[in-house]
Amino acid sequence: MAIAESEPEPIKSISPVKIAEPFNSLSSPLILGHFDAAQSKAPPVFHTSEVSMINAVFLDLSGVIYQGKTVLPGACDAVVQLRRAGLFLRFLTNTTRATKQAVLENLQSMGLECDICEVFTPAQAACAWLRHNKRTPYLLVHPDLKEEFQDCSVSNQYAVVVGDAGHAFSYDELNKAFRVLLQGADFLALAENRNFKDSDGCLSLDAGPFIHALEFATRRSATLLGKPSRSFFEAALDGAGCGLDQAVMVGDDAESDVSGALHSGLGYALLVRTGKYRPNDELAFSPPPTDVVDDISTAASWILDHHK
Ligand SMILES: [Mg+2]
Repeated sequence: MAIAESEPEPIKSISPVKIAEPFNSLSSPLILGHFDAAQSKAPPVFHTSEVSMINAVFLDLSGVIYQGKTVLPGACDAVVQLRRAGLFLRFLTNTTRATKQAVLENLQSMGLECDICEVFTPAQAACAWLRHNKRTPYLLVHPDLKEEFQDCSVSNQYAVVVGDAGHAFSYDELNKAFRVLLQGADFLALAENRNFKDSDGCLSLDAGPFIHALEFATRRSATLLGKPSRSFFEAALDGAGCGLDQAVMVGDDAESDVSGALHSGLGYALLVRTGKYRPNDELAFSPPPTDVVDDISTAASWILDHHK
């Protein structure tokens, strides 16, 4: 089945912008509460004493397990410790520049014990959405991700799927997607992260700024499929035998991994001081992290202390 990356049907006329109807299978996009640190000196209210039980652990990848092509110190041992404790373990990434299989192989090449069923990516959630809603994807994604969508539905109804396309975010490609959206195609965002720590050590633009540009231009809201969508966390928790309130997210993104996870119903979220973390990130969003820890090793120790 061909990947829907070619141009859509010619646009004969551009009708007035229509606000998208709510999607029937996924929750609305999240709007996170932004905490103005400049206006409040109050530290985040940690509530570690209130932690009662943790049975499921969601680990972010980039900035937590690895940075670039290098596994972070203690990451492999931390995963082993969490497994030995009998915790339900899943790897949740908003990375949209690689297929799920490539993500798995990258983890395994770093010495991490991991199974394909333990890895959750936004593209996986998007494929499930497309199949369920019988839509053909119109892809504005990284070239390395396109093969992930080769088995998706084909119909005369499109859904524009936007991820971190990297250099494919040209004016022409964005404008094509814009015009497809104007024709009434559904609008899916694989992730809305603002930035990521690039291979040169500096922050680079992630998918979020480009998705928001399309939202601004079309006056529509994309349906978010990756973190911190509640449906993404719920799918990852399948088989855990517990609710989101007994799950902890470990991440380096104070907005998406931490505040967003808590907003979506996770019981706990730990912010690590690795990856894209910057001082005072924990003050920037509400709700604040359950706790801030140095790295994945201290996160594992924290979790094991609270696992019954
Ligand atoms: Mg990360």
